Amino acid sequence: MKIGRKIAKAACYAAILFLLAAGQVPAGEQCSQAAVGVQVLGSGGPEFYTDRASSGYLVWQDGKAVVMVDAGSGSKFRFGQSGADFNTINYILFSHFHVDHSADFPGYIKSAFFSDRDRDLAVYGPEGNQFLPPASGFVKALIGAEASAFPYLNRYLSGGDDYRIYVNDINIDKRDVINVLKFEDIKLSAIAVHHGPLPALAWRVDIAGKSIVFSGDMNGGYHTLERLAKGADLLVAHNAVSEQATGVARNLHMPPSVIGDIAQQAGVKKLVLSHRMYRTLGIEQQTLSIIRKRFDKPVSFANDLDCFIP
Ligand SMILES: [Zn+2]
Repeated sequence: MKIGRKIAKAACYAAILFLLAAGQVPAGEQCSQAAVGVQVLGSGGPEFYTDRASSGYLVWQDGKAVVMVDAGSGSKFRFGQSGADFNTINYILFSHFHVDHSADFPGYIKSAFFSDRDRDLAVYGPEGNQFLPPASGFVKALIGAEASAFPYLNRYLSGGDDYRIYVNDINIDKRDVINVLKFEDIKLSAIAVHHGPLPALAWRVDIAGKSIVFSGDMNGGYHTLERLAKGADLLVAHNAVSEQATGVARNLHMPPSVIGDIAQQAGVKKLVLSHRMYRTLGIEQQTLSIIRKRFDKPVSFANDLDCFIP
């Protein structure tokens, strides 16, 4: 019995060492201990899943989750499981305002009511167009003082509570990298990406000497992500369609060949594929072989709560 347990323990350590060597460890065990780590809150798209939340990511630094990218449906539950503390989140960066990237936002704010947060929260997202509101309009429609869905949460916008939410709309007309914020230990930048007719951004977080880029949903049409991701340590790219995609799906999303080309052109050091949908689940080998022809650095498929060390 004892020997069996020892063998099991040794096998477990070996598995963790193998995963560490691959730059991927299970269930966020290491993100809270890494100098910098990226944890997946939601690796799915907008479909019904048994094991995936919609889009969401945390950037950890020295044991604290400090940046959140997207807040898709189900991601808040994963946030709770991740062990992160909402009080340490300084920035929420939205790629765009589809449900699978934003629907849990008021849930996070309400959950934080039961915490002792007293530091302001900065929220960034794209400007709007006729199809989707700007970041400021999205937040106002949810927790604005008038004609919003949840006016009882308005005090976080108006400054009537312990902390205040500041919302910033990021330009989507430029095809250049936008320097959104720069402090000594963190830099946030964004660039417009082509997600069909919808205003959308890719985000780059430079933190503690590491750079992480999030593609968001995009089809590659603007050829902008290559520039934002230049030399990044880690690129999280959305693998929502197969190589054979056509029509609306292809107009919204990039196939594996485009992901591989962008990763190679940008010279990123590691690629993580997320936003996995039923169109791409089960054909990972095909996806991988298409990417491998273009990009020769490590590639991983994301699952919820996975932690990736850049
Ligand atoms: Zn999406």
